Amino acid sequence: MSGKIHSLQELEVREKAVLVRVDFNCPLTADGAVTDDTRIRAALPTIQYLRQHKSRIILCSHLGRPKGTGFEAAYSLAPVGERLAELLGDEIVLPENCIGDAARKLAHNLLPGHIMLLENLRFHTEEKKNDAHFAQDLARLAEVYVNDAFGVVHRSDASVVALPKLFSVRGAGLLLQKELHTLGQLLHKPERPFVAILGGAKIADKLGVIEHLLGLVDGLLIGGAMAYTFLQAQGIDVGGSLVDASSLFVAKKILERAASKNVRIVLPIDHVIAAQFDPQTVRTTTNEKISDGWIGLDIGPKTVNAFRRVIAEAHTIFWNGPVGRFEHPLCAAGTRAIAEAVAANGRTTVVGGGDSIAAINNAGCAEKITPLSTGGGASLEFMEGKMLPGVVALEV
Ligand code: AMP
Repeated sequence: MSGKIHSLQELEVREKAVLVRVDFNCPLTADGAVTDDTRIRAALPTIQYLRQHKSRIILCSHLGRPKGTGFEAAYSLAPVGERLAELLGDEIVLPENCIGDAARKLAHNLLPGHIMLLENLRFHTEEKKNDAHFAQDLARLAEVYVNDAFGVVHRSDASVVALPKLFSVRGAGLLLQKELHTLGQLLHKPERPFVAILGGAKIADKLGVIEHLLGLVDGLLIGGAMAYTFLQAQGIDVGGSLVDASSLFVAKKILERAASKNVRIVLPIDHVIAAQFDPQTVRTTTNEKISDGWIGLDIGPKTVNAFRRVIAEAHTIFWNGPVGRFEHPLCAAGTRAIAEAVAANGRTTVVGGGDSIAAINNAGCAEKITPLSTGGGASLEFMEGKMLPGVVALEV
């Protein structure tokens, strides 16, 4: 292996059958309508490129977490196919099974420039198991493999790892290239000051990235439920707020390391709180302490101002995770304010993760921020300095 990854533009795709792994894992309403088509739009440049080259285009993706025992209507990619057809003004072929004779026949009969979207890969448990036979069945559909699914390159799934290795002609789609390039710049030559904003609930998932970021950033703003573990690690009362007891020790070490490296960590200095299990009792604290019987649900207005000041001065921003329980309207103001501040900054910004992107969309700021990363987990692992298995699998 030379470690070279071909770009889509370097591949011979003209009039070839090209299998493209996309990330169409879009949020749907209960009756199956696509509520946010960001991920579909993000794949359009690669799809258009292939149409211009008269490729026979076979798209494959997962959607949600079906049982893996066959077709489930709630997880069908049909609504996504409909939205894609609308965006392209063209018809999309959608076979009921991603593998088997019917899919193969449809792929074979596909006309140049036409598109087929395979049904949810996760209808087969083999997808999550990186199963070689499943990958071989998929490989029979095409002559060229392109990965354009940045959102899944940190996963060792069959369509991401086993499948590309079965193609001698394989490479990175336009979206994947763009995401890797931007994140690479953040890792290797960010314009300073470089500020990271981290939120969300799963602190254990993010400690690794925080440790790695300490060597890269000038400032780190921590909000969301994660912040309470850091506050408690300093002996500050956080009432009944979410705290990950197993992360307290590491959180303390991180604060000490940040101080010794002159990295400024900004934690909430006030909070939006509610009485246990009752969001209607929402109120704001005057300082960083939360009394017993209350839980923190969002950053407060003083914290918003403190975060805003740091964001305004940043020349590079990486944001992952909401700073409050933003799904509830009474706890959404903090995340909305951060989205607006990030959008107003206007410099290099990478926003990763579905929740943060949803916040940006809700705040009506999406067009002001480029690039929005389509992969929360993948961008975190990249920023943690980890090898991404789906990227390694593209190397020739
Ligand atoms: P993550 O997957 O770790 O990025 O976490 C995202 C989730 O964190 C969202 O569903 C938010 O509702 C949740 N979250 C953020 N802040 C809080 C908080 N203060 N209390 C409870 N959940 C929160």
